[in-house]
Amino acid sequence: MPVPALPLPDGTTIPQLGYGVFLVENEIAADVTDRALAAGYRHVDTATRYDNEEGVGRALRNAAVPREDLFVTTKLWNDAHAHDDAIAACEASLDRLGLDQVDLYLVHWAAPSQGRYVEAWRALIEIRERGLARSIGVANYPLPQLEEAIDATGVAPAVHQIELHPYFQQRELREFHARHGIVTESWGPLGQGKSDLLENPAITDVAAAHDASPAQVVLAWHLAHGLVTIPKSVTPSRIVENLAAAELTLTAEELAAIDDLDRPDGRGGADPATR
Ligand code: NAD
Repeated sequence: MPVPALPLPDGTTIPQLGYGVFLVENEIAADVTDRALAAGYRHVDTATRYDNEEGVGRALRNAAVPREDLFVTTKLWNDAHAHDDAIAACEASLDRLGLDQVDLYLVHWAAPSQGRYVEAWRALIEIRERGLARSIGVANYPLPQLEEAIDATGVAPAVHQIELHPYFQQRELREFHARHGIVTESWGPLGQGKSDLLENPAITDVAAAHDASPAQVVLAWHLAHGLVTIPKSVTPSRIVENLAAAELTLTAEELAAIDDLDRPDGRGGADPATR
């Protein structure tokens, strides 16, 4: 089954399951991205901060996949230099990727203490107007900063990329997104290996019932909830396994059992409110 494409509010679409490359060294980024494209992924999520845009770009250019079939995301890092000239930062990313335009450009972190999250969002609006990015969004904006950025510009992000997995389901933000037509994208969808999520019986029981892996069950849960997700692996068999989650359909009871795993202390990564 091919990966479904979700409509974005700006009239474009995004493949719902993509390949994330956080913590993938540039030296191996071309090789693993190449494997992911050969396996059938058409959506790749990188960032300036990951220092692997060059390697990812090499794989994209060498792939036997037409550019229009690829969906490439990168992100504006929140150091002063990038914020002072977000256009130049985006152009530098495009240079490293070897592309004229990315499909999605995100502000990587709101970093409320720096007080530049509205300015950064304004810069992305200009980046889209200049054609450097087809769609724009944010990542890691706490609700107050997200509301402020939308109120100040009158423009809602097409996508909000946030930490989201069964132990940390972000219901408040998801409800806000639904009201504003924002697509939710889950980072750390498998819990980043930071918890016992993939050993939790609520997941492993469902996996056994479907002859699937726990990771596939978790990814199928994201897809069933209409979330875009971008699992990362550099292991060839897992790259293939994770994509095959698009073929797995969970029952309403199974989804409800996983919904019950949400925890108030389930966050594994940094808190965007204080970072
Ligand atoms: P993830 O939840 O995708 O976990 C990745 C880890 O899970 C791997 O390193 C591996 O140890 C394990 N894993 C992968 N496939 C598995 C399988 N089939 N079975 C068992 N274990 C498996 O975490 P992530 O990489 O942090 O998040 C995914 C992507 O999200 C990143 O690569 C990146 O593109 C993006 N991301 C964005 C932000 C942000 O601030 N915007 C932050 C973190 C990640």
